[in-house]
Amino acid sequence: MNRHAEEISTIFRENDNFLVLTHKEPDGDALGSTLAIRQFLACQWGKNVCMPAPVNWPGRYSFLKKHCNGNKIATPEETDCILFLDSSSPDRIDWGDLDSEAFAAVPKVVIDHHEEGIPFGDINWIDKSSAAVGEMIYNILLDIGAEITPEIAECLYLAILTDTGRFTYSNTSAESLRISAELIEAGKIDPSEIASHVYFNYSEEYLRNIGIALYNSRTYSDAKIVLLTLDKASVRSFSTTFDETEGIVDLAMSVRGVELAALFKEVSTNVNRVSMRSRGLVDIGALAKELGGGGHFNAAGCTLRMPLSLAREVILDRFERYLEDS
Ligand code: 5GP
Ligand code: MN
Repeated sequence: MNRHAEEISTIFRENDNFLVLTHKEPDGDALGSTLAIRQFLACQWGKNVCMPAPVNWPGRYSFLKKHCNGNKIATPEETDCILFLDSSSPDRIDWGDLDSEAFAAVPKVVIDHHEEGIPFGDINWIDKSSAAVGEMIYNILLDIGAEITPEIAECLYLAILTDTGRFTYSNTSAESLRISAELIEAGKIDPSEIASHVYFNYSEEYLRNIGIALYNSRTYSDAKIVLLTLDKASVRSFSTTFDETEGIVDLAMSVRGVELAALFKEVSTNVNRVSMRSRGLVDIGALAKELGGGGHFNAAGCTLRMPLSLAREVILDRFERYLEDS
C-alpha cells in the first residue's frame, strides 16, 4: 500500500463521521467513486456518512440514486473528516446545502487524479497516472480487505468506464481493464446493462442538443480543429436546456484527422462554458488553466465571460497557434 493510502485507511478506521464531497456537474467518476466509498464506510464499517446528493442528477446516472439512501445532514461539530473525491480545486466543490466556511476547521482528505490537482487537503493522494478516482478507490478497498459488493462494483466500474471514454481515451491502461475485469467478476455486474444506462439512454432533449451542436459545427485547418456550439437562442428555440451535454464534444473528436475540439455552451449572455479535447501532445489542461479553468492533458474545460463569438475566436486562435507550433 502506498503511504497516502495507508494514512487514509487509518483515517477511515479511526473516525466515525464522514462527509463525502465531489465536484459540481458530477460525472460518472465523481458519482461512482463517492457512492462506492460511501457504501463501504457505511455498510461495511458502520460509519456515519453524509453525502449531499448533487444539485442536478444527470439523467444518465439516475440509476445510481438507489445507492444514495440514508444520508443525514452533517454539521461541522459532528464531522470528523471530509473526503473530497475527483476534485481538483476547492472552488469546484459541490457543497449542496452545506456552508463550506463552517467546515473550515474540519480535517480534509483529497483523493484525486487531475493533472492540475491542487493539494488543498491535510492529506492529499493525487495520482495522475490513474485513469479514474474509481481505480484509486478500488485499490484502497482491496488493501483494506473490503468486500467488493455488487453495489460497489457497479459504482467503480461506472467510474472507470466513463472517465476512460468507454476504454478509448489515452488514459486507458492495462490497470483500468484489469480492475474493470475484477469488478465484473467480484460484483457479478453486467457491463452491457451499465453501458445501457449511460450510453443508450438518451433523452429527447439530449438528442436535440446533439442536433444543435452538430448543425453549428465548424471545421478549421483542414478539419484538424472542430468547434461545436450550443448557443442560447437555439437552445431556447428547440426547448432544451444545458443540463444534458456530457459527451457531445466527443462527437467532434470522431472527425477524421481532428486534433483539437471544443464545445461552447452559451449558458447566458457573456457566459460560455467551454469543453475542450485534444489528441496527441497538445496539453489543453494547461490552456484551460491559463483561461481560469482546468482539467487533464487531453480533456479540460473553462468558463469564458465574454460574448460567444469572442470566446470562439479566443479558443480558435489558441488552437491554431498550437497546431503551428506542433
Ligand atoms: P468536461 O469538458 O467533460 O466538462 O470536462 C473535462 C475535464 O475538465 C474534467 O475533468 C473537468 O473536471 C475539467 N473541467 C471542466 N471545466 C472545468 C473548470 O471550469 N475548472 C476546472 N478546474 N476544471 C474543469
Ligand atoms: Mn475523474
